[in-house]
Amino acid sequence: MNKCVFLDRDGVLNVEIGRHIMKVDEFVIPEDVPVGLKRLKAAGYKLVVVTNQSGIARGYYDDQVVLDCHELLQKQCDHALDQLYYAPLIDHVSKSLMRKPDSLMLEKGMAKFNVDPSQSWMIGDKERDLIPAKKLGIHTMQIMAMVPETDIAEERVQTFTEAVDLILGE
Ligand SMILES: [Mg+2]
Repeated sequence: MNKCVFLDRDGVLNVEIGRHIMKVDEFVIPEDVPVGLKRLKAAGYKLVVVTNQSGIARGYYDDQVVLDCHELLQKQCDHALDQLYYAPLIDHVSKSLMRKPDSLMLEKGMAKFNVDPSQSWMIGDKERDLIPAKKLGIHTMQIMAMVPETDIAEERVQTFTEAVDLILGE
């Protein structure tokens, strides 16, 4: 079985701007993120991004914007990411099992990469990122808690580097 780090996107891998990312120019990747992703990859972790992108269903932007942002992210981290899942729907328009706090995106990653949850982590900035991880027995880490702290988080960190250090025990 494989160990895996599941990653929320906005507020974890790119700077949170307080609303949906509607164009690639708004997708700003902090310097320590590609470095950290490559460290996790080198340590044998699968890396799976799981992001809610209901702005698609709301008509704010389209799939191509999301795909362009993800291509930029992959380019910056030398394609360290194994998979990027996004949930385009909103609950009240069309029930989406993908959308966090539901767990289908994480379950897909677990099935695809034969993931051992007990050796794996979910890094997110919001409680709804961590709820599905907890349900599946994946360790939970809350990052950059400008948002309220959640009791579901086993660990809390301020920076992506700190998150990676903690996972790698460094
Ligand atoms: Mg987020």
